[in-house]
Amino acid sequence: MADTSRREHITREALTAVISVIIAGIAAVIWRAEVWEAICDGWVWVTDSTSIARWWYGILFFTFIVTFTICMWRLLRPAFRNPPLPEHFAYREDVFLGLVWRWSWSESGAMVNLWCYCPNCDRRSAYQGSADFIYEDRYTVFLCQACGDLRRHQGDREDALNYVRREIELKLRSGAWREVAARQSDNAAEKKLG
Ligand SMILES: [Zn+2]
Repeated sequence: MADTSRREHITREALTAVISVIIAGIAAVIWRAEVWEAICDGWVWVTDSTSIARWWYGILFFTFIVTFTICMWRLLRPAFRNPPLPEHFAYREDVFLGLVWRWSWSESGAMVNLWCYCPNCDRRSAYQGSADFIYEDRYTVFLCQACGDLRRHQGDREDALNYVRREIELKLRSGAWREVAARQSDNAAEKKLG
């Protein structure tokens, strides 16, 4: 085995040497004649003057302006970008009333698009509310029409939303949101790996 591999090694080295010599030979011949000539011809062709219609200058100028603008925009955009987003903008999901609640943050820092999702199948919850005259009798039912998950909340829909808003604000004040956000980003990372 050792003999075979040594022989192979020697053969490969010999082949490499022969091929290198051949390539060098070809290169030397070409370099002296055709290639050098071609380079000279090319240079003459490139530096030679030519006449083109004036509207070509328009196209050239337009292309230059567009390219220049795009380049400058790419270069300067980071400098004009808004300051980094507040840390708590990472907190956009939590569990309240047995449901998964998600929301977003507006540029001005307001909580928007707050709504709940089924804890079992993650579908957007539907809701039904009673509009009874007496406040105490009002209730809202959040339900998943796919798996039948049902959560009843005292008060109307806006009461439920306000309750969740208050809970979120409490976690923001106490700093408890950090733990939730960290757990969610861990879960997201695990999901990506899985
Ligand atoms: Zn469901």
